[in-house]
Amino acid sequence: MKGRFAPSPTGYIHLGNVWIALLSYISTRQQKGTYVVRMEDIDLQRSKRELGDALLDDLEWLGFEWDEGPRIGGPESTYWQSERQEYYANILESLALEKLIYPCFCNRARLQSIASAPHVGEVVHRYDGHCRHIDEEKVKTFSAEKDPSLRLSIDSCDIEFTDRWQGVQHIHLEGELDDYVLRRGDGMYAYNLAVVLDDIAMGITEVIRGDDLLDTTGQQIYLYKTLQQCLHSKHIKVPSYGHAPLLIDSEGHRLSKRQKSITIRELRDNQWSANRIVGELAIAGGLVKANALNNREISISELIKIDLNLPCLSQKTIEIKI
Ligand code: GLU
Repeated sequence: MKGRFAPSPTGYIHLGNVWIALLSYISTRQQKGTYVVRMEDIDLQRSKRELGDALLDDLEWLGFEWDEGPRIGGPESTYWQSERQEYYANILESLALEKLIYPCFCNRARLQSIASAPHVGEVVHRYDGHCRHIDEEKVKTFSAEKDPSLRLSIDSCDIEFTDRWQGVQHIHLEGELDDYVLRRGDGMYAYNLAVVLDDIAMGITEVIRGDDLLDTTGQQIYLYKTLQQCLHSKHIKVPSYGHAPLLIDSEGHRLSKRQKSITIRELRDNQWSANRIVGELAIAGGLVKANALNNREISISELIKIDLNLPCLSQKTIEIKI
């Protein structure tokens, strides 16, 4: 099997990221699998190379040892998404040939007007299929004036998968209402596209990530199925998924970049050892009992030797005090 950690270098790595990295690492090591680190710097405006390097430094300092990825290489020529755009472009071309994607010329104002929520509080990213049916002549005329975004053409369907921690998930995709963007008009590739194409290229069989990404999984599974069909490849397999509960701090805030979660850098500057950080995370997540550790410390290499019961991660959120 193959597992991975795929952080976006848009800030220093924080406790919430390390929690997810730990879970994917433990799971992979326990299954004697191969562990991949991939830098998801596809959002060229928000990602920074220096932050990617700092992130890798912090992972190394914490004791993570990956088998493929930045700094050590592997079968792929690069593990930085910003350097993999040619691959994404080639796949989009194959999808275009089969008419599985289409150009969308809708401007922001139009998209906003159709996105107005029919139900209060509902987040609506839905499209109305407006550009799905425009003829080739019009596409040519419009293309002369504006670079379109590219949308995946979705057939109505039901998708079901069983998540390791969240249980059975049923997702209904409603045809053109769910046609989502794979490449923006400014040429930027979408997260949903890059993540699926890279997990395929890197042979990832198990995706462990935060439960804030659970909602994207239906769209991603649909893309796997489209690619299986379009590229006629038996090697494209939907991975297994585990969306782990995120950590919350003692005030109830989710530990994410947005909430200004405490970073590994800050802890390090305050004389925290790597083993103490790993120990606190393992205790908070219920992976080990505090009294089983010396000074609440444990190294990653020791942690993976313990017979941890990862499937028992049943809390909705995990509180950590640091
Ligand atoms: N790059 C994404 C993030 O940092 C995670 C993608 C994934 O694990 O699928 O939020």
